[in-house]
Amino acid sequence: MKYSKLVEIYDKINSTTKTLEKTDIIADFLKTVKPKEIKEIILLLRGRVFPEWDTREIGIGAQLAIKAMSSAYGVSKDKVIKEWRNIGDLGEVTEKLAKNRTQSTLFKEDVYTKKVLENLRKIAVLEGPGTVDRKISYLKELLHEPKSAKYIIRTCLEELRIGVGEGIVRDSISQAFNVSKETVQHAYDLTTDFGLVAEKSIKGEKELSKVSIIIGNPIKVMLAQRVADINEGFDRCGKPAQYEYKYDGFRMQIHKNNNKIIIFTRRLEDVTKQFPIIANAAKKAIKAKKAIVEGEAVGYDKKTGKGLPFQNISERIKRKYHIEKMAHEIPVVLNLFDIIYINGKNLISEDFKKRRDVLEKTIKEVSNRVLLSTKIVTSDDKVAKEFYDRSLGLGHEGVMIKNLKAPYKPGSRVGYMVKLKPIMESLDVVIVGAEWGTGKRAKWLSSFILACRDPKTEEYLPIGKMGTGVKEKEEEGVSFKELTKKLEPLIISQKDREVRVKPKIVLEIKYEEIQKSPTYKSGYALRFPRLSRLREDRSPEEIDIIERVKKLYEDQRGRK
Ligand code: AMP
Repeated sequence: MKYSKLVEIYDKINSTTKTLEKTDIIADFLKTVKPKEIKEIILLLRGRVFPEWDTREIGIGAQLAIKAMSSAYGVSKDKVIKEWRNIGDLGEVTEKLAKNRTQSTLFKEDVYTKKVLENLRKIAVLEGPGTVDRKISYLKELLHEPKSAKYIIRTCLEELRIGVGEGIVRDSISQAFNVSKETVQHAYDLTTDFGLVAEKSIKGEKELSKVSIIIGNPIKVMLAQRVADINEGFDRCGKPAQYEYKYDGFRMQIHKNNNKIIIFTRRLEDVTKQFPIIANAAKKAIKAKKAIVEGEAVGYDKKTGKGLPFQNISERIKRKYHIEKMAHEIPVVLNLFDIIYINGKNLISEDFKKRRDVLEKTIKEVSNRVLLSTKIVTSDDKVAKEFYDRSLGLGHEGVMIKNLKAPYKPGSRVGYMVKLKPIMESLDVVIVGAEWGTGKRAKWLSSFILACRDPKTEEYLPIGKMGTGVKEKEEEGVSFKELTKKLEPLIISQKDREVRVKPKIVLEIKYEEIQKSPTYKSGYALRFPRLSRLREDRSPEEIDIIERVKKLYEDQRGRK
């Protein structure tokens, strides 16, 4: 298909904000697409070049796009940047530059969707030094016809901005090929691949309903809602419910296909290479030939044997080098808690009790490497509370509570499993800096740097930035406007959008967790801080001191 035909559809979709109209436009269009092209068209409609489960990125940032544009249209980089500042959107800049060039050279070559995909995919897989020029030349080949160029640049920057989310794609496929929305959704849940789903949908409901899990394609993980206490946990999950320790690490979805193991994160990134020891242990622990299991990987300190906070392992996810060394320095233990596929059989519609049974039968624990999550099944509030306390005492985050009768619902926070963890105590802190907002908050200071006190040096030590909990409207409580008014006279210095202020305004804040942090001078950072109230009754000398932050940090996991 000519890319310009797709461009017409992009424009049409853009001409309305109404979901139903967008759906009609796409559905009508899909009916006209040749079956062998449907996969690529579905991808491009979402501004993608790989299926949804494939997290590879095109890897073209604004700087590279500017270089390609400057070279394609024979204008200086500065000119492109200047236009960008004026217009604000690189896609539109491209369109304008391409138009100018078209007039002068009468150059109107069109590109085909296949070529767009091919080139962008080539760009995505190029790696290492010296590849910039090749990336630019692949991109240049696509920048001819002005409108097409606009959408190609936007696709590269991963900002197609036509407002087509998953729901619209699902409904359009259902409408175009006369298959039910539920079957489309189910097939997508299992494969995370709308291209494939569309291809099957053309063949009708029956073919579509045969779509199953594909080993090697990650499945979106089921998410958890939060409950306030054990009562609410039972309300949501029924009685009896399964309680498990809530490990503080990161989720792994492990696919075993004979001898091959692939490890995906909850964001569906393939991290197999970063965890060679776990991959090996999982291969042994999973007795089935083919299976997909899920668990939480937790790093621990080799010397003390105690759990390490999430951050330490997250470093390993980002690692590309010295993987083996890291793997030995920060060992990881995997606690498995679910199974969604075994030897050709899809288990997501089975109830959780059955899945756990299958999991227990399938896993042979490998000590210190691959374990089953610790669980109890109970209807008794007291037993549940004891389990919760024990979990916290061991340094875990809290508990997960699970509905024994529920299926696995990929990608959803449906309440089939819920989490219970302590709300941390609040802290009194002082504002030492802030940032001017952008957009509709441009007049206000909108992000506040919080600090605790060091009584020894009488310094105020930053421990985080906060904007949450501050209100847009004055009637609703402490607002950005009010804080801005209070802080403006206290400004000591200003650089770009950042200001430093005299430490005067004391706030009480709540937060999820304290983490160690090299970013802030205190050495700690608050995770998800939110304003609880202004403490005008307190002076900065009375706020919480660094020792208390340190103690709270140590207490939160029983790490004394
Ligand atoms: P949260 O990240 O706070 O929304 O909590 C949900 C996450 O807890 C899951 O995505 C898992 O990564 C993690 N988790 C830790 N232990 C368990 C467990 N026993 N069962 C399920 N999820 C767990």
